[in-house]
Amino acid sequence: MTETKPAPPMDKIVALCKRRGFIFQSSEIYGGINGFWDYGPAGAELKRNIKDAWWNDVVRSRTDVVGIDGTIITHPRVWEASGHTTAFTDPMVDCRSCKKRYRADQLCEENGKPLIIETGSAAERKFRLPVGVVCPSCGSKDLTEPRPFNLMFQTYIGPLQDESSVSYLRPETAQIIFAQFLNVLSVSRQKVPFGIAQIGKAFRNEINPRNFTFRSREFEQMELEFFVKPGTDADWHKYWVDERLKWYESIGLPASKLSCYNYKKEELAHYASACVDVMFEFPFGVQELEGIAARGDFDLSQHQKFSGKSMEYFDDETKEKYIPHVVEPSAGVDRIALALICSAYAEEELEGETRVVMRFAPRIAPVKVAVFPLLRNKPPLVEKARQVFKLLQPHFTTEWDDRGNIGKRYRYQDEQGTPWCVTIDFETIGEKGPELQDTVTLRDRDTMKQERVKISDLVSLILQKLRG
Ligand code: ATP
Repeated sequence: MTETKPAPPMDKIVALCKRRGFIFQSSEIYGGINGFWDYGPAGAELKRNIKDAWWNDVVRSRTDVVGIDGTIITHPRVWEASGHTTAFTDPMVDCRSCKKRYRADQLCEENGKPLIIETGSAAERKFRLPVGVVCPSCGSKDLTEPRPFNLMFQTYIGPLQDESSVSYLRPETAQIIFAQFLNVLSVSRQKVPFGIAQIGKAFRNEINPRNFTFRSREFEQMELEFFVKPGTDADWHKYWVDERLKWYESIGLPASKLSCYNYKKEELAHYASACVDVMFEFPFGVQELEGIAARGDFDLSQHQKFSGKSMEYFDDETKEKYIPHVVEPSAGVDRIALALICSAYAEEELEGETRVVMRFAPRIAPVKVAVFPLLRNKPPLVEKARQVFKLLQPHFTTEWDDRGNIGKRYRYQDEQGTPWCVTIDFETIGEKGPELQDTVTLRDRDTMKQERVKISDLVSLILQKLRG
């Protein structure tokens, strides 16, 4: 896809998400809770389609990747080994006047001045505010110097709440994969190079959640740890960057809005040899969708050190023993959902009115086909429409609608991004002659054209369109 169109304003996106049941504020009836979002009926289907597409393309359709489904709470040693307990921090600044808290880099960005990095190493980075930075909320200059704030949510395991029972909600799914590396290797009959994938919730106590769902405190990740022979990292890293970019286009994100950010040497973690972020042009700026890092043997070596279990792999062809290196494509489901929503959103002038239409790729659209009886108070129409609905439902996510006039039903489905609508009318039930009996209208979301189709051809025709 190469289409470019101006980005819709975020307030329109947020309003549509609420109106059509994509995304609601969590606990809205209690005033909401900052950084948490619930997905409504359309959003839940959209998210499921994203995860299914990823799982299908990254796991099921390959022979060299297997999946796991691990826990959210783990042994706290997992996070000591990974470095999260000490180093998973963001620099935080307080305004002493109005007591607002900021992430130092975001505060500086809002002030149009870059945050000063005092020490270079990614692990022990120290920061300083440039002169002239003020609190965006009250204008005060009385700000604290940046200090590290750990982003992990802490909890307690069992009835005792003391140091010994402290654990964390996972801030990423990746470490669960590393901690299960030996078990998966022993059961899966895989050989290096191979990957272990996981989809699941992650939690980060972000200092300042913002840009709708983009930076949330609870979100979902789709992570792949692809284990490779040392020395082959660069080739595999390139391979996965290419694969992932193709994947984003395959789910309907236009190439013109996708880009890559290549980390400079001094921006890399000390153990990483390369990192590329896949970026998307959101209405609020170009931001990260996924990070693809070549992490060397850091994670497995750390778990070997902390657990005392050997993470070495024995290559029975070359008789070599080594700790595999890893390439990690790590994507966020919620950011992908938001990118899809932003890029699908379109407005058109139609007979003096504005038609809002979500142009999702059919593969990712929450509902594939909607079925309407022309009139809800004509039992033969309703009965026939029920039959058509039952025919389609096993094959596609299908929605039933018999409220309001047909035009309104089309508008509703357009806003939800449903690619096809099927209407059962008087022709279908033979009232306009035998030649049109058992035919329906199939209406296309994008062209708004309607074609007359035999009921017996519907499934194969929609399947054909769905496969493109
Ligand atoms: P950022 O720099 O935006 O904070 P990150 O580099 O810390 O992101 P990673 O740790 O690489 O992110 O996590 C992998 C992916 O998980 C990200 O590319 C993103 O899609 C998703 N992700 C990370 N943090 C959040 C968040 N707070 N809300 C939603 N998605 C997130």
